[in-house]
Amino acid sequence: MCFEVKSRDLMARIGVIETKSGRFETPALLPVVNPAIQAVSPEELRSAFGFEAIITNAYIIMRHFGQEAARRGIHAILGFDGVVATDSGAYQLLVYGRVDVGPEEVVAYQEAIGSDIATILDVPTGWTDSREEALKTVLETAERGRQLWSLRTRDDVLWVGPVQGGKFTDLVALSARLMSGMPFDIHALGSPTLVMEAYRFDVLVDMIMAAKMNLPPDRPLHLFGAGHPMMFSLAVALGCDTFDSAAYAIYARDGRYMTETGTVRLEEMNYLPCDCPVCVSRSPEDLLDMPKDERTRLLAMHNLYACLRELRAIKEAIREGRLWEHLALRARSHPSLLKAFKKLARDYGKILERSSPTSRRKGIFIFSSFDLHRPEVLRYRERLLRCFIPRGRLLLLMPYPEQKPFSRSEEHDRLFRTLLSRLGEGWREVHLCLYGLPFGLIPLELDQVHPLSQYEFSGPEEGFYTWASDLVEEYISSRPYTLVVLVSDGSRLSLVVREACVKSGLELHVIEEADPWSEDGLSKLADYLARLLASA
Ligand SMILES: [Zn+2]
Repeated sequence: MCFEVKSRDLMARIGVIETKSGRFETPALLPVVNPAIQAVSPEELRSAFGFEAIITNAYIIMRHFGQEAARRGIHAILGFDGVVATDSGAYQLLVYGRVDVGPEEVVAYQEAIGSDIATILDVPTGWTDSREEALKTVLETAERGRQLWSLRTRDDVLWVGPVQGGKFTDLVALSARLMSGMPFDIHALGSPTLVMEAYRFDVLVDMIMAAKMNLPPDRPLHLFGAGHPMMFSLAVALGCDTFDSAAYAIYARDGRYMTETGTVRLEEMNYLPCDCPVCVSRSPEDLLDMPKDERTRLLAMHNLYACLRELRAIKEAIREGRLWEHLALRARSHPSLLKAFKKLARDYGKILERSSPTSRRKGIFIFSSFDLHRPEVLRYRERLLRCFIPRGRLLLLMPYPEQKPFSRSEEHDRLFRTLLSRLGEGWREVHLCLYGLPFGLIPLELDQVHPLSQYEFSGPEEGFYTWASDLVEEYISSRPYTLVVLVSDGSRLSLVVREACVKSGLELHVIEEADPWSEDGLSKLADYLARLLASA
């Protein structure tokens, strides 16, 4: 196996890809190198920026260097001693409609020049392709994938099996299944560039998920043409391990300055909000006053620094288990990104939950009810509803007191002292659950389970009440309780819980108590429970 995973969060992973020219850590951006027009040399990409892997286009290399690249090797031609990946020319096919080489020649050439990671000449699906045309690209790409195994002569090259299908997600799924049946080392999602240029990140979510759900999870997934730092966190959270892009250079030629939240035209800027070696001592004016070549080079360098900085931040977030928070922050960069993030959370929450690690060192932040879609909260809801079996037939619902965790609070001790002394053995009949926001309902036994008392919460809003109401109703209706005692403190939540209890159809007793955790309140509760248990 060429891929080893070290850390995970959501569907993201930090991993290592091993090739014949060395290893590199993922998630990684492979800068696209075009030897004909290169603002930053491959040697510099390694020495000044620390890039361990780059990508170039085998078709362009063939046109420029022909057999010289086969004689000297791609690493010598580019002056790069790290990992060199090659794309096949499929993108040129998409843009110009045709390339004048065949799939066999492209395979042989990449082997001859010594690519570490090579790509078959796939047939990209266009954004405007009909379904029928898209299906053809899927089947033809799969056919070329099958041909590879009789064409190749070396076994030290990692081969990329591209997944096509474009916006037709069922075709993406079909393509992924066809390609995953072959022993490719890496897969790639083909033709998303136009989707990304049109800011259709929501479509991209469906495309990537359709591919991910049908590809072997132990193979890395490459996303072609994703080169903007503002969308790295989304792509990584979706399980993309590598990207390639020429955007850093193309944007630079066009005077566009990348930040992790978007792109700005240099002439519209008064300040450079960055402390990379390019920006730290310069102003936008300084850059605009320069000859174009020099400005392009410096802008390309800044753009690369911006990409690297964002990737480092993402890796740190994965390691700390707070990629959700990081993605939520980046999603605020553009409404299209937020739309995509919401789609990911709502449509694929369960898949995110299954991919996320269960152990987490840190507490979670709940900024809005949307955060109830996060994997930790879904996992709690799922386990409570599907797996939790309460002891006791009488459900006692109490408001969650201020201090968390409840089981280590004064209120906890006071409650147990009072109820034990009044109910004795009868206490075994009572099962205590606490109601509160943001989690709606927490059985005492689960009080210390992550994240139920390891969270920070920004305060109530409508969505929390709806969530709590659904949870309480579903929980009560599916448990073997015979009656419910609700201690209501008059709060909005207590009214919501009361309504949910009524809907569940169980016998309900409500005790109104403004200060339920006081000695007095608890003593009244104990009396009530004692009478109830005696009569039942
Ligand atoms: Zn900078």
